[in-house]
Amino acid sequence: MAVQPKEKLTIDSASEPGFLSFYFSMPEKPDTTVRVFDRSDYYTVHGKDALFAAKEVFKTNGVIKYLGSGSKKLESVVLSKMNFESTVKDLLLVRQYRVEVYKNKAGTKSSKDNDWYLAFKASPGNLTQFEEILFGNNDMSSAVGVVGIKLGTADGQKVVGVGYVDSTLRKLGVCEFADNDQFSNLEALLVQIGPKECVLSSGETAGDMGKLRQIVQRGGILITDRKKSDFTTKDVVQDLNRLLKAKKGEQVTSAALPEMEKQVAVSAISAVIKYLELLSDESNFGQFAFSTFDLSQYMRLDNAAVKALNLFQSSSEDASGTQSLAGLLNKCRTPQGQRLVNQWIKQPLMDKSKIEERLNLVETFVDDAELRQSLQEDLLRRFPDLNRLAKKFQRQTANLQDCYRTYQCVSHLPSVVQTLEKYEGNHQMLLLDAFITPLNDLIKDFSKFQEMIETTLDMAQIENHEFLVKPSFDPNLTELREKMDELEKQMQSALNIAARELGLEAGKSVKLESNAQVGYYFRVTCKEEKALRNNKKFTTIDIQKNGVRFTNSKLSTANEEYVKNREEYEEAQNAIVKEIINISSGYVEPLQTLNDVIAQLDAVVSFANVSNSAPVPYVRPVILEKGQGQLVLKASRHPCIEVQDEIAFIPNDVTFEKGKQMFHIITGPNMGGKSTFIRQTGVIVVMAQIGCFVPCDSAVISIVDCVMARVGAGDNQIKGVSTFMAEMLETAAILRSATENSLIIIDELGRGTSTYDGFGLAWAISEYIARKIGAFCMFATHFHELTALADQVPAVNNLHVTALTTDDTLTMLYRVKKGVCDQSFGIHVAEMANFPKHVIETAKEKALELEEFQNIGKSEDCEEEPTAKKRRLEKEDGENIIQAFLAKFKVLPITEATEEEIKMHLRQLKAEVLAKNNSFVNEIISRAKTNVV
Ligand code: ADP
Repeated sequence: MAVQPKEKLTIDSASEPGFLSFYFSMPEKPDTTVRVFDRSDYYTVHGKDALFAAKEVFKTNGVIKYLGSGSKKLESVVLSKMNFESTVKDLLLVRQYRVEVYKNKAGTKSSKDNDWYLAFKASPGNLTQFEEILFGNNDMSSAVGVVGIKLGTADGQKVVGVGYVDSTLRKLGVCEFADNDQFSNLEALLVQIGPKECVLSSGETAGDMGKLRQIVQRGGILITDRKKSDFTTKDVVQDLNRLLKAKKGEQVTSAALPEMEKQVAVSAISAVIKYLELLSDESNFGQFAFSTFDLSQYMRLDNAAVKALNLFQSSSEDASGTQSLAGLLNKCRTPQGQRLVNQWIKQPLMDKSKIEERLNLVETFVDDAELRQSLQEDLLRRFPDLNRLAKKFQRQTANLQDCYRTYQCVSHLPSVVQTLEKYEGNHQMLLLDAFITPLNDLIKDFSKFQEMIETTLDMAQIENHEFLVKPSFDPNLTELREKMDELEKQMQSALNIAARELGLEAGKSVKLESNAQVGYYFRVTCKEEKALRNNKKFTTIDIQKNGVRFTNSKLSTANEEYVKNREEYEEAQNAIVKEIINISSGYVEPLQTLNDVIAQLDAVVSFANVSNSAPVPYVRPVILEKGQGQLVLKASRHPCIEVQDEIAFIPNDVTFEKGKQMFHIITGPNMGGKSTFIRQTGVIVVMAQIGCFVPCDSAVISIVDCVMARVGAGDNQIKGVSTFMAEMLETAAILRSATENSLIIIDELGRGTSTYDGFGLAWAISEYIARKIGAFCMFATHFHELTALADQVPAVNNLHVTALTTDDTLTMLYRVKKGVCDQSFGIHVAEMANFPKHVIETAKEKALELEEFQNIGKSEDCEEEPTAKKRRLEKEDGENIIQAFLAKFKVLPITEATEEEIKMHLRQLKAEVLAKNNSFVNEIISRAKTNVV
């Protein structure tokens, strides 16, 4: 929780009326835009934004103050600089909101306080203006981007046009394609690109556009509405001519580019260019690359698959503690490496040669432990975010320190090359092509740069964290440096004298230090502070945790002189610095290349590291061309679950073979490992196609074109039948875009609805997939009846997860076996344990009816033959079991407990009852089962 600053931060009341009239004159805004007012020492937010800040930042309404009165009364909350920065981070990066910052032309102290203007704005896809606040010295680990989408027609067919801008990487892309009613292609494209924000034409919310909006939102992408007229191809040629990078010596003539044929997509990108105001920033000119995005070059993933396979950490699921695949595979040392791994996960490859190449690189570093370690533990860490550095040069905001960082980074390259050259395995050629040659070229490209830095920068001063031009560079600078050196000597002697006076040891218990704000000062630790007390010769500057800073007349005179000289020095070097930075800016392109090479190296080393350090090392998958119809995993594991503490993961085999076995139905008790089993198969296929080793003893994987997941309404969510039906129909439609080379994962579809409808659809969908599509499919279900499909369709195969029951325990074995699971238990456990609250209420009533049912049973019981006796005893036993069950059942805290807790209780009770395996009870349960729901 943020702390409200102690100092009195109030808005100057004299300026109130002016501000209020400005505030109320502003156009309306959506709740997802937050307006912040910069009042130079602090910031304020108002109205709904103030309520938001009170709730989210301070967690109390106590911080809300009011400006004005009556109908013009305005809620206001003050944010300190620190609160502002953390709030902006949260808004843009976590919540994916927009932020606008307003400043006052006249300065805050002015009474004419209505001269406000919009100084900066940012949205999740366009963080440029906030980069310093957001990332400061930290690095960005994910790319950002904005897409624009437009629907149109081409050759009489409905097409989707997508324009994409990544202003960080300076990339423009277009993609145009036909799509089905569910926009499956669009959804897959959005997963592959992973934009943070989407520009749509405002007002279009019905019909197809409404559907489209849902798809965008489902992907967690912020929608920004822009006026319809922005989506046009007018002016776009001219705009692109300005933005695009020229090929050597050629003028840009975007009109002739093949990308321009995609008219719908081009008008979409035009809206994004306008939205990001790319043309208002001259540093963008001639910088962008423009390409067509080919939807089919990568495996398609739908949002449901991204979620079901837990590819990325979703903030809402953090609590579950399960690591995402990205979290697991991302052991990169550089921000560019991290960005690349995230991109690779969104874009699993389809081209066998490309996959093999990545696997070869990973294998190189898996096999050579020394190589891997020296890169991971030592060399890669030395590289900063080169992309950000490059951008600073591009935008002319770099300083001498940035030049030095570049210099430092380039000077590490020879050791990287030498390390790579030591490798003697099978992939020497590949290492040469992928890393050694490009790095050597870069070393050459930068040689002049390195020379320049060495001759111009004062390396001696860099040790003191000062970035200055060498004094020898200019007679004026030499003179100033001499003066400064002399002053430093004087200050050093002042230290010695002061130490003697205070009875302390110079350089040990009393030190001479300097910083940018005050220049030179003395410092003693708080322990030695007494020595200073009552000594009139010394003046305390301030007292901090690490000691007391102070000065005396001798030091402060010398220091003043020093600071003056230093300022002059900076002045004098200014022109030279400009020149250095100007020349450095010419190295943006090689810097970008270096960024990419290091990112790739970091990413494959990270994969190798993860593959090697897993509980059981991963193996290299054997990749078969698409269409081979084979998917055979021996002893496969779920990579994210096996690394959890306290899990002894049970490996399982997976076998698919075209024409023989393509559709697995997995049944078995709830919590028995069904989901894990089917999801791990999906995760492993994705891992293989991004070129990583996989958690198996061996793996043969035919390239798949798509992984789709359908996960039924979650455990704790029941949907109305009509929504459910709609979803199922949608599922059926979406599945139509699957091919025989797709992997479909279906989990507990149809749970929580009337069994009959759910079952019917589950059957129909399964049959369709198995007979018509012929895709690789895994279906985890509680519909035991579905297992009969195996008798009708040869490619369908039944599997079940196993568990062990003893007297009163139910132990999951997590082992997947052939065939259908024993129906006598499991199904009921699953059934009971998944009923939502209101169903439990009904069940409770039914349970009362059961009590009556038993009473009837009692009176009928009169014969006493041996079997009858056995039955009577069994029944008495059973009644006791039921009584105990009912007693516990009735006291369940249904109104207070969460659904999860109730389920847990129920699961326990149910397991206890079933573990008794009493025939009387079993009979009642089977009757109850048909009654309930
Ligand atoms: P189901 O889908 O059958 O309800 P889950 O797949 O969700 O079951 O598994 C429940 C829990 O059991 C998982 O969260 C995990 O902790 C554990 N589990 C699943 N599969 C295995 C396995 N193969 N080995 C060890 N533990 C497992």
